[in-house]
Amino acid sequence: MVDILLRGGLVVDGTGSEPRQADVAVSSGRVVAVGRLEGASAERIFDVRGLAVAPGFIDMHSHSDLSLPSHPCASSSLLQGITTEVAGSCGWSLAPVRRETAATVLKRLTQALLGSVPPELGVGKEDGEDGPAWHSFGEYLDHLERTGIGVNLYPVVGQSLIRAHVVGSDRRPATVGELKAMKALLEVCLEEGARGLSTGRSYEPGSNAPTREIIALAAVAASRGAIYTSHVKDESDGVVEAVEEAVRVGRETGVSVEISHHKAVGEENAGKVDQTLALMEEARRSGVDVTCDAYPYAFAQVFSLLNELPGVEREGPLEETARLLATEEFRQAAVGEIVKAATPEGRLRGFFGRPHHYRVVSAGGDRDVEGLTLAEALGLRDEEAAAAPDPDRVRRLVDRAADLLLSHDLTIHLAATMSEDAVAAVLGHPETMVGTDAFALDRRLDERTPVHPRHYGTFPRVLGHYRRERRLGDLAGLVHKLTAKPARKLGLGD
Ligand SMILES: [Zn+2]
Repeated sequence: MVDILLRGGLVVDGTGSEPRQADVAVSSGRVVAVGRLEGASAERIFDVRGLAVAPGFIDMHSHSDLSLPSHPCASSSLLQGITTEVAGSCGWSLAPVRRETAATVLKRLTQALLGSVPPELGVGKEDGEDGPAWHSFGEYLDHLERTGIGVNLYPVVGQSLIRAHVVGSDRRPATVGELKAMKALLEVCLEEGARGLSTGRSYEPGSNAPTREIIALAAVAASRGAIYTSHVKDESDGVVEAVEEAVRVGRETGVSVEISHHKAVGEENAGKVDQTLALMEEARRSGVDVTCDAYPYAFAQVFSLLNELPGVEREGPLEETARLLATEEFRQAAVGEIVKAATPEGRLRGFFGRPHHYRVVSAGGDRDVEGLTLAEALGLRDEEAAAAPDPDRVRRLVDRAADLLLSHDLTIHLAATMSEDAVAAVLGHPETMVGTDAFALDRRLDERTPVHPRHYGTFPRVLGHYRRERRLGDLAGLVHKLTAKPARKLGLGD
């Protein structure tokens, strides 16, 4: 007598071998038999004729570590077949955090994505009061263990957290002593259960680290058989050089490198993925363990234009925000903040730095605006689109963005876009795996926080749109990329 019997499905076992009709028996959470199991009896029997049966999918890139404390069932992951997630990506994880700054750091990380700070984090109050249930990486994992979560977690620790812990937000290379302290802290995190190190090379404070600092940390990861996952420095014009950096980290340390949500933003950069894929192939031939993952959408994270304007209180009532946006003081202050935050190369950050790479994905149903690039929606001429941190220029951007928001009930949502062919080229490469770049959700977020369809549809879209409509491969080969291949990369055995 087994626990579960799946009768008559098309078994796609993940090895890449031909799918076949078979029964699958499960006991104590493990597959115990596959084949014609006619006489078998089971606690529960499911007739799955006409359906495919596959091992649970592995999400190579998620941010679920940010949402699991408040969305522990991970319904959005499970519903698309994900049973294991690599989380702690892009240099961000919820640990380690210093006691003094824990509340601020955790609030910032979760608010940015979830729209509000989940009460489950225990950081709603001011710093110094209460505080979260964890500080160290091990304590964070213990917290999840106690809560109970719906998926298997493959946690990696974010380099931004490690740098913030030791160096703070300073925009300078670490000193010798600080580097030693960061390496020691990484050792501790790996000891406590982290399975790798992640970077978000374009996000502060991690981005303040020069390449040699990353190499020093990756060497620690390599020495413990941990992986290095990287959201590379530039995913648009400079993507080739950015991928070169990640490959260099692998070459110099021997660490297993995973390039995260690989893409080239901007139609004009579509051809660059051929170069980056060739570069990775070349590196693999010379012994570097480097692969990448991707999500099956031609647009990236969806953001609200409102949040791009510094000084907007995310959780305040909309009428108050609208009043604020119309004031001279607000606009002047916003200009100051945007100019101050420019990159060392003199480019504005975020939407305003590359307004032609972002498209309006929703504007409350205004078809005249939806689909336009941000540059078009703001009526920017070419020379203004190459936004330098010049206060007069930035003032025009702020005025037009604020006015556009005011005329659309403050709901203008934007996403960086890429060519669909480039997405298919990356996904279709035999070495590419799949990651959602999402975080698991058990319920809807508030309506001011846009949610990308990848939260629910990544794996179905690979098997549906990209296999059936774009013919990116056969079912057996694709399921292999979603299961056994990532398992091997991550060192997950039976
Ligand atoms: Zn990322």
